[in-house]
Amino acid sequence: MSNTIIAVDESGSYRLYLTITTEAVREAARIHGCTPLAAAALGRTLTGAGMMGLMLKSDTDRLTLQIKGDGPAEQILACADPAGHVKAYIADPAVDLPLKENGKLDVGGAVGQGSLTVIKDMGMKEPYVGRIELVSGEIAEDLTRYFTVSEQQPSSVALGVRFGADGEISAAGGMIIQVLPGASDECLTALEDMLFLMDSFTLLVQDAAAMEGPDKTKNLMDLIFGRLPEQFRPRVLEEKDIEWRCDCSRERMEAALVSIGKNDLMKIIEEDGQAELTCQFCRKSRHFDKNELISLLERAVS
Ligand SMILES: [Zn+2]
Repeated sequence: MSNTIIAVDESGSYRLYLTITTEAVREAARIHGCTPLAAAALGRTLTGAGMMGLMLKSDTDRLTLQIKGDGPAEQILACADPAGHVKAYIADPAVDLPLKENGKLDVGGAVGQGSLTVIKDMGMKEPYVGRIELVSGEIAEDLTRYFTVSEQQPSSVALGVRFGADGEISAAGGMIIQVLPGASDECLTALEDMLFLMDSFTLLVQDAAAMEGPDKTKNLMDLIFGRLPEQFRPRVLEEKDIEWRCDCSRERMEAALVSIGKNDLMKIIEEDGQAELTCQFCRKSRHFDKNELISLLERAVS
């Protein structure tokens, strides 16, 4: 069963991306050794980026979502592709703050004030770059503004990571509703009412995951959209999987070493006699001995 649904309603008024990303968020939190607060911030960003990756047109397109604020989390980065692969990074995985008054994790406090940047590499000379000022640092609201302001695409974004009594991640997911050109007013009003009356998205993800049947995302879609009149309910177009995957390799690290230039590479060879590079996304380290570094020198420019 796939964890992600792409759907459109019969009247062609909106497009829906709906996903349950519990596994990918758990993997990200485990790799980075996240506190619950860091896991929530990283998980929301990763889930949002994962859905945005599915919106890319060409197989080779790549999307990067960067949240940069003056809060203690500093920076959160997630990269995604159209196949649903995501990787993510948080500058301070140990970030911890008191719960908010409503008992929720203070993701907005961890992020602080700053900017949200989307970079889409579509194989052109220059990548597409869209940037907005953060609304709240809670990620979903920030993405909603990004779509509306930067892409002129009215959208509604919900993201959530939920923890069990044991402190472990029990459910994570995301939803993006995009209003399509020529949308029917009747449908949009029904959607607005539905969103207004909707329970906490994170709770709904947890409820859907606990329901019978293998297709948890379909459960979630029924829970959320079931109250709409029949003709405005989403019809599934495509199913995909959003999964954690890091695409780093020894070759890419070699290219990174080559790119620092002859002088700096020479310095590493003379001073350290070796190099140890760690991927910031999956934390995997790769070692380069002196001979390997010397052979890379030939490829470097001075
Ligand atoms: Zn990696």
